[in-house]
Amino acid sequence: MARKRFGQHFLHERGVIDRIVSMLAPAADDALVEIGPGQGALTEPLLERVDRLSVIEIDRDLIAELESRAARDSRLEVIAGDALRIDYAALAERRGPLRLVGNLPYNISSPLLFALLGSAAPIIDMHFMLQKEVVDRMTAEPGSRDYGRLTVSVAARAHAQALFDVAPGAFNPPPKVMSSVVRVTPRAPDFEIHDGQLFDQLVTAAFSQRRKTLRNALGRFLDAQAIEACNIDPMLRPERLAAADFARLANRASKEKRAGSTD
Ligand code: SAM
Repeated sequence: MARKRFGQHFLHERGVIDRIVSMLAPAADDALVEIGPGQGALTEPLLERVDRLSVIEIDRDLIAELESRAARDSRLEVIAGDALRIDYAALAERRGPLRLVGNLPYNISSPLLFALLGSAAPIIDMHFMLQKEVVDRMTAEPGSRDYGRLTVSVAARAHAQALFDVAPGAFNPPPKVMSSVVRVTPRAPDFEIHDGQLFDQLVTAAFSQRRKTLRNALGRFLDAQAIEACNIDPMLRPERLAAADFARLANRASKEKRAGSTD
């Protein structure tokens, strides 16, 4: 029985499973980690390709099955627990720079993504099945309807590439929405962010009311003159700005804050 609270939708369509494995293209010595292996739809084909696979699962019943599988196959390592609470840096120290893969429970996908992008662990890439709507927002172009806080927060930390869409019928039970597989490659942006927390707060404020101009939305961080000093028109709406523009605004706000605290 699939457990709703753990977001369980098990993949059964062979073509989709093969496509994920082929896009991931694992090498035998990759430090591959699967999040939410469930009944092993991806786990088994992955085990055919790598020397060692770590899987992180929260559901006790599924863990018991995975552990009995691991008892017969030393290449499989079962990590019982919540993927949001795993120490990925320690895992990478043990296994090497990580490659992550998973058909994620949709209720934890955004917090997990940010926990991973903010973690000190070296991560080569992540291939995740997510709600299509989330992937559309992660990969949106400035000015488009889907462009927003998620797009900018991801762009400041990684390159996100939508790979292919998956219809509900590929899962059992079928989810209510379309899904999509995304490749996320962490990378340092080609601009500087002096205060990551302030950057996130400013981006959140900018998009909290999309119809507001920057001047109105960012009032508690910067006045119109300061926005103009960053070469940005304060009358623009936030969806017109690239991540680098937000970085300039956040760096200016950080400088003003520091100057204010030494007055
Ligand atoms: N990979 C399997 C497949 O494709 O058929 C299962 C995918 S299912 C969408 C999500 C899986 O993640 C389930 O096995 C669920 O128990 C597990 N899961 C849910 N929340 C989790 C969490 N916080 N940490 C680790 N695993 C979790």
